[in-house]
Amino acid sequence: MSAPVIHWFRRDLRLRDNTALNAALASGAPIIPVFILDENIIRSKRSSPARMQFLLDGLHQLDADLKGYGSRLLVLRGTPREALLRLKGETGAAALHYNRDYSPYARKRDAAVERAFGGPTHTHDDLLLHPPGSVLSQADAPYTVFTPFKRAWLTLPKPNLQGDGLAAGRFHNLDGLDTPPIPSLADLGLRAEVTPPDAGEAAALARLERFMARAIYAYGEARDLLYADPWSEAAHGTSTLSPYLRFGMISPRQVYQAAVEAQHRAVPQAGRESVDTWINELCWREFYTHILHHFPHVARGSFRRNYDDLEWRDALDEFAAWQTGQTGYPVVDAAMRQLAQTGWMHNRARMIVASFLTKDLLIDWRAGEQHFMQHLIDGDPAANNGGWQWSAGTGTDAQPYFRIFNPVSQSRKFDPDARYIRHFVPELRDVADAHLHAPWEMDSPPRNYPPPLVDHKQARARALAAFKRVG
Ligand SMILES: Cc1cc2nc3c(=O)[nH]c(=O)nc-3n(C[C@H](O)[C@H](O)[C@H](O)COP(=O)(O)OP(=O)(O)OC[C@H]3O[C@@H](n4cnc5c(N)ncnc54)[C@H](O)[C@@H]3O)c2cc1C
Repeated sequence: MSAPVIHWFRRDLRLRDNTALNAALASGAPIIPVFILDENIIRSKRSSPARMQFLLDGLHQLDADLKGYGSRLLVLRGTPREALLRLKGETGAAALHYNRDYSPYARKRDAAVERAFGGPTHTHDDLLLHPPGSVLSQADAPYTVFTPFKRAWLTLPKPNLQGDGLAAGRFHNLDGLDTPPIPSLADLGLRAEVTPPDAGEAAALARLERFMARAIYAYGEARDLLYADPWSEAAHGTSTLSPYLRFGMISPRQVYQAAVEAQHRAVPQAGRESVDTWINELCWREFYTHILHHFPHVARGSFRRNYDDLEWRDALDEFAAWQTGQTGYPVVDAAMRQLAQTGWMHNRARMIVASFLTKDLLIDWRAGEQHFMQHLIDGDPAANNGGWQWSAGTGTDAQPYFRIFNPVSQSRKFDPDARYIRHFVPELRDVADAHLHAPWEMDSPPRNYPPPLVDHKQARARALAAFKRVG
């Protein structure tokens, strides 16, 4: 009987269309499926109870899916290097398979595992349609601007679905292994803040199907309109697939393929353009992953290093007001409360609150980036960093620093009937529509809602001056 091999699940919590798992299954050796709860990540100041709960739910789901194949998921705790070595010792595993992750932390961790494992490690590209290093300029350099990256990315042939290797493979008998059950959030010393959406492969595919049935055709117009309830079954302007893509409960090939099929079904031109716009967003996801891979300094500082000299304000009270949704700007407060209450925030709202923090309050984007990581179920080091640096004007092809969002006009445009504000800012529920976006303009504003933290016009001038000094 051949020695077993380990499949190490990381950001690929699914059985289907999983490149490394399929390769392991195809090797003919029996598979040991394992996930390692990395203490470094659990204890990190960027960790999020909401995201951890979604991950734990996803592990339970994966375990249940594996049970359908007569196996189960081993969930170990510790540092991956030690946990994998121990598992290898206990099972006599001959090889290790996993899908690559491209963040600086993941690469360092994986290099340590490879050095220590003492057997072949087989790694695969799976997280993106086109991995870092495969989208390069004519000078063989990574792109630093989105539009040319996208042009090149679009022309590359897209990988096919990898399909389902389960029928051909088999799993190792784990009966003799005494492993602890999947811990609860409380076991990890964390406390639940929000109820995440249903986790796992089936939930991801159902969400994809729902979005592709209709909403994708209106994505071009509807994607910027703010909505409150990301996890409900209602049709939304955007897909709300981000947590599933974050943990690989669905593959980029599956979502891309579904979009291409929707493209074929689309009749009016507008529908086809909407699908293109959605694919464009998938491309942003890949772009930022490439940026973090090729320019790891962005994890700590500005992509454009001159902005590291910017004099950010040290305003703890204002930062706390932003975090808790008490800035006096209804759309900013609604968005920050959406994050706290649901673990997610609409993309337009992310841009509005990020602009408000970095421009109106002139507070360092890294503080906002960390707060997002502490709360977002979809918190992803690359997309989050890219989104923050874009909004702050310190990033790749960031909006020029002089383009500063006006929170009131953004609010009027993207929450025209103020439903989003009314949902999250109940203090303003009785305010007439005309004043909801700027309640301070009323003769007698509601007493239980704070006045605006800053005057946007003055704050804008202050930000322009500060950016100009280093820009
Ligand atoms: C300040 C800021 C922080 C952000 N932090 C994150 C983050 O931590 N994790 C995250 O996944 N996205 C992040 N984004 C990008 C974007 O807001 C979310 O991906 C999107 O809101 C998720 O909703 P959706 O799944 O309905 O997206 P859809 O509009 O349906 O888009 C489909 C998918 O494309 C990807 N995507 C969409 N827009 C972007 C983008 N601008 N950059 C990168 N990928 C994108 C996501 O995987 C998303 O699920 C951030 C944006 C900003 C401005």
